Amino acid sequence: MKNIIIEDPEFRAEKLKRKYIGCMLGAAIGDALGKQNEGCSREAVLKAGRISVYGRAPEGCPGEKLRAGQYTDDTEQMLVLAGSIIDRSGFDIIDFSERIAKWGADAMADPVKKNLVGPSSAQSILRLNSGISWKGSGSDIPTCGSAMRAAPIGLFYESLDEIESFAALSSIPTHKSPGSQAGAVAAAIGVRCALNEVTACELIRETVMMASKYDVLMGEKIKIAFNKKDNRPDEVFNELGTSYSVYETVPSAFYCFSRHIESPEMAIIEAVNAGGDTDSIACITGALCGALHGQSCFPEKWIAGLENKDILIRTAILLFEASVKK
Ligand SMILES: [Mg+2]
Repeated sequence: MKNIIIEDPEFRAEKLKRKYIGCMLGAAIGDALGKQNEGCSREAVLKAGRISVYGRAPEGCPGEKLRAGQYTDDTEQMLVLAGSIIDRSGFDIIDFSERIAKWGADAMADPVKKNLVGPSSAQSILRLNSGISWKGSGSDIPTCGSAMRAAPIGLFYESLDEIESFAALSSIPTHKSPGSQAGAVAAAIGVRCALNEVTACELIRETVMMASKYDVLMGEKIKIAFNKKDNRPDEVFNELGTSYSVYETVPSAFYCFSRHIESPEMAIIEAVNAGGDTDSIACITGALCGALHGQSCFPEKWIAGLENKDILIRTAILLFEASVKK
């Protein structure tokens, strides 16, 4: 009986839609919770007490001017990418570059948001807005700005080959280093494999294989993150690192996701309190969790208190509809 229900096309479509919503909500929830610890050391985070509810970021953090439940540039850029894919019925590098340049100019002119745009993104956005082509605008610094926004590519495309090539391309206007491209590929492939509910081993295998085409070190570090999923967080975060480097944020997110694969709440709390670039680690972790388990996997309080939850849900539904139509 159970098998018959699962095979029903309407049931499957509804389930898939809930996973799209879960992915986008999860990314924003992780981002909004993680911003409260962004840039703090793990020691300082643990000393101050683990964060599991929305609040303000302390003075000195990039998100110090944001309200409780308000997300940062990670989710804003993810929404920019999703909007471009929806409107263009696929990834269009020219359209996306124009939109990210406009988003960045607006964010940098906004007194509340200007500190959220990382240095790599800020330089790239200035270059794009000065007329430099997307081919030459991106920073060579391997930070995680393109990985944290990449989920919509994994949601929209089904073919892993298309996801790989478009995720890598989507990185180039702001982050053109091989490591950043590999990070974007890993995040988007991970989301698609989570949507497909492949085994954890298979998800990591595909992710490592695709990311390694751009950067072998990224693949190796994601493999370590998975192999050490049962080791203590202090040890693993110390080994992997949690800084703004894409070689640290992306593997640490895969560690949090793999360690608590059946508990999205625990996975996100682990990421939020990792120390370092906590909004991005938790954003990527949340996207993976939501893609695997769907929107109902998160505590109601996290959804209720989230900024723009209706926009996120609507965007996820539009992305789902655009993906089905293509
Ligand atoms: Mg951020």
